[in-house]
Amino acid sequence: MPASPRTSCAYRQLSHPPRTTQSGGGRMSKWGGAKSRALVGATLARWGTTCHLCGRPGATTADHLVPRSLGGEDTLDNLRPAHASCNYSRGNMSLAKWFELHPLNTSQRAKPSRVW
Ligand SMILES: [Zn+2]
Repeated sequence: MPASPRTSCAYRQLSHPPRTTQSGGGRMSKWGGAKSRALVGATLARWGTTCHLCGRPGATTADHLVPRSLGGEDTLDNLRPAHASCNYSRGNMSLAKWFELHPLNTSQRAKPSRVW
């Protein structure tokens, strides 16, 4: 009878990924960590939840006006609300480039706000 070499503890541990925070909505976080989550909350509280990239409501992440890769800081002045998808699409693109590719056509939005 050969002894099985597969019962070592090390092997078992590798097959289980480390357990991270599993509380709450389980949303994808861009930078990870409690600090970034706090910054997102502060950004949405200060600037609202209108995505600054597409102009629609429902933003759930914070986007850097100046990308971190270009020296942008994690401050409220450099953060604006954005959809996760818009945030991801923009990546490290400059804002000028983004709006060149995704112009905000606010004129097309028909708002029947004067019903009375
Ligand atoms: Zn958006």
